Amino acid sequence: MCGIVAYVGSQDAAPILLEGLQRLEYRGYDSAGLAVVNAKSLRTRKVKGRVADLAAVVPARFKGGSGIGHTRWATHGVPSDVNAHPHLDQEQRIAVVHNGIIENADELRRRLEADGIVFESETDSEVLSHLIGSTVKETDTLEEAVRRALKSVVGTYGIAVVDSHRPGEIVVARNGSPIVLGIGEKEMFAASDVAALIRYTRQVVHLEDGELAVLKADGFNTFTSDARETAKEPFTVDWEAGHYDNGGYEHYLLKEISEQPDTVARTLRGRLDDRFHIAHLGGLNMDPRESRSFRRVKIIGCGSAYYSGQIGAQLIEELARIPADAEPASEFRYRSPVVEADTLYIAISQSGETYDTLAAVQELKRKGGRVLGIVNTVGSAIARECDGGVYLHAGPEVSVASTKAFTSTAVAFALIALHLGRVRDLSPADGRRICDGLRKLPEQIKEILTQEEHIRTLAMKYADAPGMMFVGRVRGYPVAREGAQKLKEISYVHAEAYPASELKHGPLALISPELPTVAIVPDDELLDKNLTTLGEIRAREGRILMVGHRTADAADDCIVVPKNETELDPILLTIPLQIFAYHAAVALGRDVDRPRNLAKSVTVE
Ligand code: GLU
Repeated sequence: MCGIVAYVGSQDAAPILLEGLQRLEYRGYDSAGLAVVNAKSLRTRKVKGRVADLAAVVPARFKGGSGIGHTRWATHGVPSDVNAHPHLDQEQRIAVVHNGIIENADELRRRLEADGIVFESETDSEVLSHLIGSTVKETDTLEEAVRRALKSVVGTYGIAVVDSHRPGEIVVARNGSPIVLGIGEKEMFAASDVAALIRYTRQVVHLEDGELAVLKADGFNTFTSDARETAKEPFTVDWEAGHYDNGGYEHYLLKEISEQPDTVARTLRGRLDDRFHIAHLGGLNMDPRESRSFRRVKIIGCGSAYYSGQIGAQLIEELARIPADAEPASEFRYRSPVVEADTLYIAISQSGETYDTLAAVQELKRKGGRVLGIVNTVGSAIARECDGGVYLHAGPEVSVASTKAFTSTAVAFALIALHLGRVRDLSPADGRRICDGLRKLPEQIKEILTQEEHIRTLAMKYADAPGMMFVGRVRGYPVAREGAQKLKEISYVHAEAYPASELKHGPLALISPELPTVAIVPDDELLDKNLTTLGEIRAREGRILMVGHRTADAADDCIVVPKNETELDPILLTIPLQIFAYHAAVALGRDVDRPRNLAKSVTVE
């Protein structure tokens, strides 16, 4: 969500900032801006709209070797040129870009206005430029001014600040919104996401909450909020710039759907043990005795991560016979959860920066809970906060709607369930069955991808419907929820997901020829019950698209996927629903990779 880029060095900053902002476009935003400093001046440009619109108004003579850029996702004040960042102080000496939310902005604004300061925008962020601007006159360094200003701020922020009196310097700070530094040859970068840096350097340093850094062309220093210098070890990012290209596909979403044979294989790589039929997950940091000690598992995540967590809870209950359930992290954190020592908590976040999930993890840690993370982005905030975990290794997910991270998360849960199962009562034979099933997944996903044309035809047939119902029983239910989520987020078609057994307790009243149903019907012990449900829908003249392992007379249309082990089937059943949602969105002319009102990693509350 929203983005920051900063550069200091001997090149002109503006083209580097624009390129970096383009790399962050995938996160979703509504306006963009930049500020460049040289020995003579501080100049800014900002627009409501796309980075391309910003590039069009940045003149070629915009010279300067340091600068900051921003893509905004409005939280306070409408998207507009004036509300776009950077924001300046009264004397137009300081420029600030900000990601996050300043909670006491109203109070700070009143105080600053009482001192005669006139605000230009409606944003919460503008208080930062005025606070720093009024402090910098009294301090010897910009960093001290930023530190002092931040002392009166309550809220979350990632910020980058330039001062026209110090052209060769940028100060960045983080509290709850990511900031990563990039180390170049006689140049330094900073950004809210490595995607913006990867063209220039792979050597990065993550700031922790409360940290501040001073960047100059020849290096950087990091400090705690009370001005103690901290030592940071750079690490090398193994994602490549090419991972961020669309690879010739029309949309990132289709690219990422098509990558799943590889991404699932990467999540599995090196983790299956054929001798003991167990999963090796060194990152869990638990010996077998500890792995046996938990009596419950609680999984938290937001959006699709939560639905993959529901699949995970079922896998853990089935394979390890430990009671497990999933809950939205956003709900969990606000209800003052009872945290128990014999519960294993698992937090899921593709970006590792999802604010609600991070806050839930911090609350769990504060109460002494044991938390594992399932995260895609190495070194991200949630990964650092957790006691251990599993990296997905799915490569960067650029499209806003999650696909490959969803399936890799489900696979990671299968590995955790296998691990927890095999240190308890899961037999070696069942362990082998699951290992073999997992190994089959990449080929079976390839087989599903060959059905794209058939699924596209179905998507075009159903895309006109004013709404769709998704139903599934037990293992099929999280699949139905994720299918409905995918459809609504990218095609804006209203979609409801219900447990199939709940239909007759209310929503059956909705069934009519205008509201088609997508029914998830795996060949499992509930097959007959599911076929009965199809009959009930049919009797109300409902149209049915069935996704399962066979065709059925009651269904108007069917998508047949390869059968795996019953416990692993949900992973495969999800994939046709991704393809269906994609083609429905394309048929309806939607902005598939950047659906309206949504952002990739939700780094605000
Ligand atoms: N809260 C700030 C605003 O509305 C920053 C939003 C962002 O993170 O982009 O301008």
